[in-house]
Amino acid sequence: MDRKIVLPEKEIPTHWYNVLADLPFPLDPPIHPGTGQPIGPQDLAPLFPMALIEQEVSTQREIPIPAEVREAYTLYRPSPMYRALGLEQALRTPAHIYYKYEGGSPPGSHKPNTAIAQAYYNKQAGTRRITTETGAGQWGSALAFACSRFGIACKVYMVRVSYEQKPYRKSLMQVWGAQVVPSPSPDTHAGRAVLEKEPDNPGSLGLAISEAVEDAATHDDTKYSLGSVLNHVLLHQTVVGQEAQKQMAIAGEYPDVVIGCIGGGSNFAGIVMPFIRDKINGKQVRAVAVEPTAAPSVTKGRYTYDFGDLAETTPLLKMHTLGHTFIPPKIHAGGLRYHGMAPLISALVEHKFIEGVAYPQRTCFDAAVLFARTEGILPAPESAHAIKHAIVEAERAKEEGRQRVILFNLSGHGYFDLAAYDEHFAGRLEDYAYPESQILEAMARIPKLAGVS
Ligand SMILES: *Cc1c(COP(=O)(O)O)cnc(C)c1O
Repeated sequence: MDRKIVLPEKEIPTHWYNVLADLPFPLDPPIHPGTGQPIGPQDLAPLFPMALIEQEVSTQREIPIPAEVREAYTLYRPSPMYRALGLEQALRTPAHIYYKYEGGSPPGSHKPNTAIAQAYYNKQAGTRRITTETGAGQWGSALAFACSRFGIACKVYMVRVSYEQKPYRKSLMQVWGAQVVPSPSPDTHAGRAVLEKEPDNPGSLGLAISEAVEDAATHDDTKYSLGSVLNHVLLHQTVVGQEAQKQMAIAGEYPDVVIGCIGGGSNFAGIVMPFIRDKINGKQVRAVAVEPTAAPSVTKGRYTYDFGDLAETTPLLKMHTLGHTFIPPKIHAGGLRYHGMAPLISALVEHKFIEGVAYPQRTCFDAAVLFARTEGILPAPESAHAIKHAIVEAERAKEEGRQRVILFNLSGHGYFDLAAYDEHFAGRLEDYAYPESQILEAMARIPKLAGVS
C-alpha cells in the first residue's frame, strides 16, 4: 500500500462542481439591506467581474475550468493525498486516516485555487487593480501570487493583529508585488472612523472587508476579491474534493467521515461538496466542520440574515453569524476569526447534511504538534482544528473497536506561524471559551428586516 496517492496532471479536474444544482432545498438569496429585496447582478457589478457574478448564482452542475486556470493549477495540482500511517500508529487506532494536503501550493494553502480563477476572470474583464482583505495573510498572499501571474495590481488590507503577529506573510505579499497596509488603515472612511475612536484597534476581518470594498467601489479600474464565504469561491475549491474522490478510489476506500476546518467555509466546502453530492444521492457519509470556540459561528451563532462586514456595506447574507460587530479574540488561527459562515455551508448545517464542532486552540496546537512529529508536515493553526477532530474520530473508532475511514483537509502549512508554536511551547496560549457577553451584544445589532428572518 502506498503512503502517498498522487495523480498525474491530466487528472486536474476540467470542471468545478456546483452543489447548487443538486441541493434538495432552496438557498435563501442575498438581500439588499435598503430594499429588503434579493440583490441583482447590477448590485454586484461595481465589485466583481460579470463572469464571477454569473457563477455566484449559477445552478449549472459542472462549470468548465478555463485552460489558463488549469495551466496555472499545474504549478501545484493535483495535490497529494496521504495515508496518515505515522499518526495512526501513534494513536493505535484501527481507523484509516487520510489527508489531502493543500499546503504545497506556492502561497502554502488551498486559497490559490480560487485566487487564480478570480484573477483570470478579472483580467478577461479588463480589471487593472484588485483590493482585498486578509486575516492571517494566507488569502492576501494567494491573491498577490495570482495577480502577479496575470499582471494585475493588488492592494491588501491586512487585519492589524495578524500584520503584527505574522510579518513574513506581509513580506511574501510584497515579493509577489502587492501593496499591504494594516487595517484599520487611514486610507478609507471605514478605517479612519475606527482609528479616531480607538487608535490601537486590533482590526477584524469584517472591518478589513469594509475597507477593501470601499476602495474598490470608489475606483473605476479596481475590483474587489473575496477569499471565502461566497458561492463562487466555494465552487473554485471543489477541485480539492474531486481529486480526493479519485484518490480515495485508488486507495480502494470511501470515507465514513470528511472533516475540514471552517473560517468562512471554503476549504471545507472544497473537499466536502463532491461527497455531499453523494450524500444527497443516498450515500452514507458524515461531514464535520470544525471551528474554534473563540469564533463559534456554526455551533453557537444564529442562522439569520446579517451583514458580511462591520461597516454594513455588503448585502445581507443568510448564514450562521455571531453578529457583524463581533470581534473575535486574538487566537492564532487568524483565518478562522470571522463572525459569519458561508451561506452554502450554513444551509447544509441547517438541513443536517453537515455537523459542526468547536475546539479551543491549545488542544488544536497539541494535535498539530503530534501530527508534525508523526507525519512530518507542520500544519497551519487553522488546519490544526481539522486534525484535532480527525484524532477524536480515530480515538472513538478505537474505543468502539471499529474500523473507520477518516478523510480531512490539511488546508495549509504552518511555516509562517512558528511564532504561534513558540507561544504554545512557552505555555502562553490562552483558551477562549464562548465569549458570551460580547456575542450577545453583537447579536442585538443583527439587522431586523420586515418579512425575512
Ligand atoms: C484561510 C484559511 C482557512 C480558513 O478559510 P476557509 O475559507 O474556511 O477555508 C483555513 N486554513 C487555511 C490554511 C487558510 O489559509
